[in-house]
Amino acid sequence: MKIALLIFALIFSINKTSAQTAKDFAADWDKQHVSSLPPSNVRHKDLQKYLEQLKQIGLKVEEVGRSYANREIYQIEWGTGATKVFMWSQMHGDEPTATTALLDMFAFLQQNRAKLWVKEMEKALTIRVVPMLNPDGAELFQRRNLQSIDINRDAAVLETPEGRLLKKLRDDWSPAIGFNLHNQNPLTTAGKTDKQATISFLAVLGNAENKSNEGHERNKRLCAVMTLALEYFIKGHIGRYDDAYNPRAFGDMISAWGTPVILIETGALHNKDEQFLVKLNFVAYLSALKSLVDKSEQSANSKIYDALPFNDSGNLFNFIFRNANVVNFAETSEPFTADVAINAERRREGESAPTYIREIGDLSVFSGLEEFDAKDFYLVQKNGLLRIGASGEFLFYKKTRKIDWTAKDLEKTSPPDAIFSNGKWTKGEKLLKKL
Ligand SMILES: [Zn+2]
Repeated sequence: MKIALLIFALIFSINKTSAQTAKDFAADWDKQHVSSLPPSNVRHKDLQKYLEQLKQIGLKVEEVGRSYANREIYQIEWGTGATKVFMWSQMHGDEPTATTALLDMFAFLQQNRAKLWVKEMEKALTIRVVPMLNPDGAELFQRRNLQSIDINRDAAVLETPEGRLLKKLRDDWSPAIGFNLHNQNPLTTAGKTDKQATISFLAVLGNAENKSNEGHERNKRLCAVMTLALEYFIKGHIGRYDDAYNPRAFGDMISAWGTPVILIETGALHNKDEQFLVKLNFVAYLSALKSLVDKSEQSANSKIYDALPFNDSGNLFNFIFRNANVVNFAETSEPFTADVAINAERRREGESAPTYIREIGDLSVFSGLEEFDAKDFYLVQKNGLLRIGASGEFLFYKKTRKIDWTAKDLEKTSPPDAIFSNGKWTKGEKLLKKL
């Protein structure tokens, strides 16, 4: 009896180590991630420090090229298997999530090499990764490289050193699969809903005729595997990136050159921080890679990917002030009632993000990540003119007050009851009801 129990416990524990689920990967990330900075704050020198850590635990890290400003670009390699997997991140300097997720993934794999499934992965795959392909853009937290060229529109003419390097790394190695890792606008939605597309996938076809091939079909199945893994955390927040063939874009061209590409776009999830997005990426990569190794990818249902709602935009704003009594004091006009929507620019974590007015009028069909009831307040743009593109800095006055809107220096002569600036209440927080 005792022996039977022991055998049972042994089988159970073996099963447990080999049946690594998305939940397990997430728990592993919680316990073992090595990253400490929010991805948007990772500069080139921080990347170098992380890479030093990876080298110290035995990972192969080498400089493979230089950026336009002569910053080192690195490649990490892990595994000895026949299936070649190539991943690159931060081709756009202000799209940092994947860089950190990749570093965490390598540290995790290297430190868990004794585990059976990691051993199998090490034997089956060789993974090469270029984290932060655009270090100059990352330094400035801008999309483009230092030549102000969008590297992802440089696949044909190759005017950027970063683009030339990416092509060379692919051509010299001919990997079987590519992962092109980006961030998308945090206000992107999964379909025509108010649900942020926290992660979006695209199995890139790489030809204008929309002709599929086995590599593309496999990538659709891998997208299905990643979708199922992520649904546990962000159900309803997974989208399908909607993009036509673009002969200047690397995702398309690398697919056309013989390495079928999966595009992963990380968006955002309201009230979740950047590290949460890192964890989702970590879970997605490891789920996909593991399914390649244990061959579960082969029986995955690509219809799960086909059924994902396409990315959509314009349905969602950062902030909407509902039924505001708008006063344009720079023009002599009667107050009028309108919803006012503003969006925040993307900035590094901890930096204040400027906001701009994006829509005014009946916004009942749209949603805001945060909405406020402004029906009992006058809303005044700080400089007096409410228009599309103006700064989203607002003064609020209780409607019961009598205000001389023509007064010089209105803010001083009639101090407002509440002030909203750079996406925050700097005065009178909680005065307007949150909707
Ligand atoms: Zn991008």
